[in-house]
Amino acid sequence: MRGFEFHAPSTLKEVHNLLAQHGENAKLIAGGTGLVLMMKQQLVVPDHVISLANVAELSGIASENGSLRIGALTTHRTLEMSDVALQGASLLHDTYKHVATIRIREVATVGGALTHADPAQDSPPALLALGASVKLANGKGERTVDLADFFEDYYTTVTEPDEVLTEVIVPKQSASAGAAFLKFLPRTADDYATVCVAAVLDVDASGKCQSVGIALGAAGPTPIRATDAEAVLQGQQVTPEAIREAAETVRAAVDPTADIRGSKEYKTDMSVVFTRRALEQAFANARS
Ligand SMILES: Cc1cc2nc3c(=O)[nH]c(=O)nc-3n(C[C@H](O)[C@H](O)[C@H](O)COP(=O)(O)OP(=O)(O)OC[C@H]3O[C@@H](n4cnc5c(N)ncnc54)[C@H](O)[C@@H]3O)c2cc1C
Repeated sequence: MRGFEFHAPSTLKEVHNLLAQHGENAKLIAGGTGLVLMMKQQLVVPDHVISLANVAELSGIASENGSLRIGALTTHRTLEMSDVALQGASLLHDTYKHVATIRIREVATVGGALTHADPAQDSPPALLALGASVKLANGKGERTVDLADFFEDYYTTVTEPDEVLTEVIVPKQSASAGAAFLKFLPRTADDYATVCVAAVLDVDASGKCQSVGIALGAAGPTPIRATDAEAVLQGQQVTPEAIREAAETVRAAVDPTADIRGSKEYKTDMSVVFTRRALEQAFANARS
């Protein structure tokens, strides 16, 4: 790995000042589980590495006004173990516990995962299905970006070099909704998904869909919100046939890459199958 200068600021203001000073020659580091691998492979060669680890104001999970506000530096493990998160959106608990291993979840952060933007990650589909947004701040102000507009391409987001992702805002899951996160992992427990699907589904007493969120990971260059599948179910009676029809629309929405985990055709078929299964499970959870 090439040499670099390491900075360890303790406030967000100091982080902004360092980013303003070093511009595109600087990289932020949170848990380091993604960035360090990229630096070792010389895919990223920053002159300055700015650690967020001491910036306490970026950590924590709060429940307010129908939303969860999750500090970017909150680790996967903290979120997985949080009662506040579990009460607010059980899908988060179901998802984060599937990420890699406990050792990785102890250090990888919620904000680092989103900015890393590996499309095979587990948390982006869950956050997309829940309708989350992120806050991006630089020294001059901040903006809120819908997560559906955040990912641009493989490992690329709309985050500017002078911006810090400070917070993830997640609308709470309705108490009557059911959710499911399914990850197909044929190799090892800490592998990335062949395909993963998150679904959250709210139905009324007659079984009519009141709201639905569906998103996939490892199925294209970015995480994908399956809006056509959602449209099939929204306002309709949720039946096995409707779920099958919704899942089938995913075939046209995905664009997976062939790799050691499977061919493009296989992953496309698996996207349809796993969407159907995730919807069936979310529906069963909503009715139970
Ligand atoms: C062996 C292994 C297996 C894994 N398996 C999985 C898996 O199955 N599923 C899964 O979802 N994840 C998995 N991960 C984790 C995942 O791929 C990322 O490494 C991790 O989520 C990145 O989080 P981090 O906090 O370590 O980010 P870092 O590595 O610190 O940073 C990643 C990127 O985000 C930027 N960044 C970090 N924080 C901020 C911020 N607040 N604002 C702006 N930019 C920021 C950094 O500059 C860098 O570009 C695995 C990791 C490893 C090492």
